[in-house]
Amino acid sequence: MKEFWSEGIRSLAPYVPGEQSNAPDLIKLNTNENPYPPSPRVIVALRQAADDALRLYPDPDSLELKRAIAELHDLPLDRIFVGNGSDEVLAHAFLGLLKHPRPILLPDISYSFYPVYCALYGIDYATVPVDEALRIRIADYRQPNGGIVIANPNAPTGAALPLTDIRALLEANSGSVVLVDEAYVDFGAESAVALTAEFPNLLVVQTLSKSRSLAGLRVGFAIGQPHLIAALECVKGCFNSYPLDRFANIGAAAALRDRDYFDETTRRIVASREWLRGELVALDFDVLPSATNFLFARHAQRGGAELHAALRARNILVRHFAKPRIDRYLRISVGTEAQCEALVAALRGILGSC
Ligand SMILES: *Cc1c(COP(=O)(O)O)cnc(C)c1O
Repeated sequence: MKEFWSEGIRSLAPYVPGEQSNAPDLIKLNTNENPYPPSPRVIVALRQAADDALRLYPDPDSLELKRAIAELHDLPLDRIFVGNGSDEVLAHAFLGLLKHPRPILLPDISYSFYPVYCALYGIDYATVPVDEALRIRIADYRQPNGGIVIANPNAPTGAALPLTDIRALLEANSGSVVLVDEAYVDFGAESAVALTAEFPNLLVVQTLSKSRSLAGLRVGFAIGQPHLIAALECVKGCFNSYPLDRFANIGAAAALRDRDYFDETTRRIVASREWLRGELVALDFDVLPSATNFLFARHAQRGGAELHAALRARNILVRHFAKPRIDRYLRISVGTEAQCEALVAALRGILGSC
């Protein structure tokens, strides 16, 4: 029945998110959600927000949320854009800042939504291979381009570039927009937000889905100089005036303002990640360095698809990508201490039976 579809839409292949399931007893380590609940202050704020005011439209400018972001990063409000998840922020950035005659550059191994936006908006792109160790080499981005998009830390590898590399990338590409997707930055990488004052071509995108435990609320934001933010506001104003509902505006601001809770939960996740790394290495996995809330690991003998299926049979979901270069790997989100222990026990059972 695609004859009713608009022509450009018929051939699109949408992004495929990791499986969502409410099955009881399932240990869900496949979509990099935070295993800890959001700050209790978020829940209180959301309960208070469930009132008659819901008949009114929310603040189209999300000013209270922007103020919370401004306090956190010590920025003026005109350097902040907010959206319905960082996926929406990214989509607006692709359309508003990255559609040019020259192709934009993307790492070949990175967040697989980037090429989907390119296809949707008719943006030309070229992929730049990551090196043998699956690391982004910024020297490989010294070629004419219409923009550059990288995730730092990268997904699904977990590897982080130091800020000196981001600075070099910005200096070598002063004529194009460099978008740095920092979805995982809070788990141990250096943020490029501090460079936005200096570089008029830098846009940094962050999300509350991972380190703030709010994947279900759908809030992301971008930071850059006002001339870049204005392009995003322009796209937003042509698309949806109220992308953040009343709950999203209020809950996100409450989460950003509870710094102690954030520090405690991220610290626990980093500690569990390093514990899990040691256990996986002991089970004969090669585990890439990670500055995120997940590990990317391959077993010395057993394939990625096989281990993914064996874990699924034991009610543990991890992510496997059937893609060139990475199909031997599993991407494992760091869970609670108990979930990590259950994963290790399951792997011991699976690997012991080979
Ligand atoms: C999870 C993720 C996002 C999307 O986050 P949302 O804010 O939930 O839309 C963006 N980029 C990367 C690299 C991610 O892993």
